[in-house]
Amino acid sequence: MEMKIIRKEKKLCLSCMEIHEVKNIALEEKSTFKGTPIRYEAEYFYCDNTEEIYSNEEMLKKNDIAMKDAYRKAMGLLTTNEIIAVRKQYGISQSDLCALLGWGGKTIARYESYQVQDKAHDTILRKLAQDPEWFLQLLKERKENLSSTAFEKYVTAATTSYEAAQDSYLRKAIAAKYARIQNQREYNGDAKLNLDKAIDVIRYYASSTAVKGLYKVKLMKMLWYGDNLAYKQRDHAITGLAYQALPMGAVPIGHDSIIELKEVPCEEIEMGDGTAYRFKLSTPSVFAALTEEEKEILDKVIKRVGRMTTEEIVNFMHQEEAYKKTKLKDMIDFKYAKELQL
Ligand SMILES: [Zn+2]
Repeated sequence: MEMKIIRKEKKLCLSCMEIHEVKNIALEEKSTFKGTPIRYEAEYFYCDNTEEIYSNEEMLKKNDIAMKDAYRKAMGLLTTNEIIAVRKQYGISQSDLCALLGWGGKTIARYESYQVQDKAHDTILRKLAQDPEWFLQLLKERKENLSSTAFEKYVTAATTSYEAAQDSYLRKAIAAKYARIQNQREYNGDAKLNLDKAIDVIRYYASSTAVKGLYKVKLMKMLWYGDNLAYKQRDHAITGLAYQALPMGAVPIGHDSIIELKEVPCEEIEMGDGTAYRFKLSTPSVFAALTEEEKEILDKVIKRVGRMTTEEIVNFMHQEEAYKKTKLKDMIDFKYAKELQL
């Protein structure tokens, strides 16, 4: 018997009825729950005198949860602790959460112990964890079902959660702008939108000492050059961003939101008549989302245009066939990449 000792404690042993050091051991158990075979770790007491294992009621409950959690994992459902974490995120009590969701008063308490939640309820709990805006909306709808102290407390917690989730809402908003473009290879350079790559391309440029005065207009051009040079070399772009032809050259769809993403090193500088956005990354960094090949492509872009002023890069872009052949405000086709000046 494979026996893992968790701890030992001197106490009355209920197997031999003597006081001695009783071991708590973990055993791997196999079981079948709702037709699904599962393995999980169960905990027991072990007596060295009788060589017997035994348990108490608390242990049985714990082992039952361990078994059901193994089943939940196998079925892709939230585990007991994950359900508790959803509730803790908003600091809400079991019964108030039930009231909020219009579920029977003991539902959550049961899910946090012996009962496995159904798929529909699981989906709702997951959505709740990811969508504090929805939680706030539910709170307002069910205000009458909650005490005013509880209501205020939950609103505060959900607001904090909502603020923290800003980045994921922003990413969703950008993704929504690309919903249609995802299937338009001529505009996304045959690459699926990958915001982690887009962020790392920006960070890569922003960290290079060979890139001078990286402000927004210049950054937008450099993103376009990176994707187009990649497409020219290997038939697919890096970021999956699609670019529109604007008077100052190519600009990615969703650019205003992209520069607001949390990991983009963007600094707002107040100028006389507005705000300038400067991109600079001074701390040593890794660019985990980029491949070596992609970094080499970006290095080529940096070598050619990194030292240009904004005005110079805009003029340079205006010489591109891609720009000359695209109507203002239209999306720029990646087919022109083969005529790229780089
Ligand atoms: Zn004993």
